Amino acid sequence: MNERIFLSAPHMGGEEVEFIQHAFNENWIAPLGPNVNGFEADIQEYNNIPYAAALSSGTAAIHLALILLGVKNDDVVMASSFTFSATINPIVYQQAEPVLIDSEKETWNMDPVLLEKAIKEYMAKGKKPKAIIFVHLYGMPGKIEEVKAISEKYEIPLIEDAAEALGAKLNDKPLGTFGDFGVYSFNGNKIITTSGGGALVSQNKDWIDKARFLATQARDAAPYYQHSEIGYNYRMSNIAAGIGRGQMKVLDKWVENRRANHDFYFKELNPVGFEFLKEPKGAYSNRWLTCVLFNENLSNNPEDLRQELEKFNIETRPLWKPMHLQPIFKDCKAYLSGVSEELFERGLCLPSSSSLTNEQKSMVVEKIKNFLK
Ligand SMILES: *Cc1c(COP(=O)(O)O)cnc(C)c1O
Repeated sequence: MNERIFLSAPHMGGEEVEFIQHAFNENWIAPLGPNVNGFEADIQEYNNIPYAAALSSGTAAIHLALILLGVKNDDVVMASSFTFSATINPIVYQQAEPVLIDSEKETWNMDPVLLEKAIKEYMAKGKKPKAIIFVHLYGMPGKIEEVKAISEKYEIPLIEDAAEALGAKLNDKPLGTFGDFGVYSFNGNKIITTSGGGALVSQNKDWIDKARFLATQARDAAPYYQHSEIGYNYRMSNIAAGIGRGQMKVLDKWVENRRANHDFYFKELNPVGFEFLKEPKGAYSNRWLTCVLFNENLSNNPEDLRQELEKFNIETRPLWKPMHLQPIFKDCKAYLSGVSEELFERGLCLPSSSSLTNEQKSMVVEKIKNFLK
């Protein structure tokens, strides 16, 4: 049997171990240390944003953003429904109410028209939303400029969940830098990894200073341990940040590799009945995962293909199951267009690792074509 072909595998560039070795030599094995500062500087420079806090996960970054915006019990937060649960969970950590907004067809991300409708309805009820969490799914820039305009018009702060979108841009501006806060993830399956980690970015120095303070147990400036606020253990370790520093050096290359995966699949599979997500004008996707949609005239379905490929040790996955269909969020208010449900039914994510070889890609395509016969 061939080696397993993963959906999205960690891919080291080579320099990661040097940063870790340096941390070992200096005995910087604690959270905090020069790699953490260096990694934050790398993130700031790459995304052209002045402040970044390196954290233990993308989920922690979203949670801290909500805390910094003062989201608390009974507040309303509008969020993308077509996403991973980590976008929504932190709203519930704060005992606030998620309101789920469906996608538009062009980019598969939050529909600005539905968002504005939802905001108006809630404001009419005297319930102004406390925040918007907008997701760029699969690294594809969504209609963030429209959503930013809505956020400004109604004065509702905007959190950009760019967990899957590091390296992607809209009109040359990095995703994650449009909102009041941006969030990145360095989980093992993301475009680059620290084996687990995240970052919160902002133009606002006070917010990022406060995020670092809350992420290290909210310790007051005293010689003993004194606390005037509830804190969290959300900081990234100096070892994880060492991996991150090495990964930043190869990020652009890994984006190119993932875009090449997409282009290869498109060339081979579009003619045989699969649809792909197109980049709108001005959009530069990192193509974190390449997803295909089954045409109506294909007699097979995505789940049959997934099981067939599994026989050849090839990992694929359905698209994200929308949050309004999740047992845990089914009672949340949702503004629906039908788009995300259709994507969930018709779609499949193909192996998209930046380390994928040409032989592996050819094998995936061959097995798919055989399956259709
Ligand atoms: C991965 C992911 C997160 C959470 O990041 P973690 O680092 O795994 O906590 C949040 N939102 C989206 C859209 C993600 O894909």
